[in-house]
Amino acid sequence: MCKKKIMKKSSRRKFIANSAAIGIGSVLAAPAFGKMLFGKQPESLLGTAAIGFDQTPLPYAYNALEPSIDATTMDIHYNKHAAAYAKNLKDAAAAEGVAADTAVEKLLEGISKYSAKMRNNAGGHYNHELFWKTMAAADKTGQPSEKLLAAINSSFGSMDEFKKQFTEAAKSRFGSGWAWLIAGKDKKLVISSTANQDSPLMDIAEVKGTPLFGLDVWEHAYYLKYQNRRPEYIENFWKVLNWNFVSERFSSI
Ligand code: MN
Repeated sequence: MCKKKIMKKSSRRKFIANSAAIGIGSVLAAPAFGKMLFGKQPESLLGTAAIGFDQTPLPYAYNALEPSIDATTMDIHYNKHAAAYAKNLKDAAAAEGVAADTAVEKLLEGISKYSAKMRNNAGGHYNHELFWKTMAAADKTGQPSEKLLAAINSSFGSMDEFKKQFTEAAKSRFGSGWAWLIAGKDKKLVISSTANQDSPLMDIAEVKGTPLFGLDVWEHAYYLKYQNRRPEYIENFWKVLNWNFVSERFSSI
């Protein structure tokens, strides 16, 4: 059995991310090298670990986010909608010659070279994998770190003002899409919004950066419970935003 197969999945993902970052062409060619250099990365870097083509398990039960997000919505959203993005991403990758162990982040950075199917499904898969992690049961969300809070205050004036502006971006996204809190290269925070399943990581994004978290405002994310009341969904989302994860992600970029 090759070493790649016995590496833990999380280690492999981290290695793929780092391979991409330092320009190693093939993971298969150098698994021992990767393990030697990167095998002892602290778990805190999980906040920005590369996302692979497979869905990772939901980090909580379907009903964990109730009453903000109901169990049926979570079940259908994860097992039907998000599962379809992952499957269609794999189909597009196979059809367009993209290796199945490519980090989705790298794919998004060059998405303009690929088909609309790749754009929609690579974006859809990435956005949802991030979305699940950036939520938690209301009693497990923690608080923003001092560093994140300072960055929010610096960019928006206050937490209240940040929430107001983010809410506005999420409310005013016409049709389907996402609202984002993103960090630019200078780590300055910016609110943006994308249509459909586009991501701020895409080379075609109007506002580019690393998403710290995004809010799915497709109707499939809220219609069963909220119907046309998107503002109410957004208001309740704040109760399950996983500040622990978002803070960790911010400190690891
Ligand atoms: Mn969705």
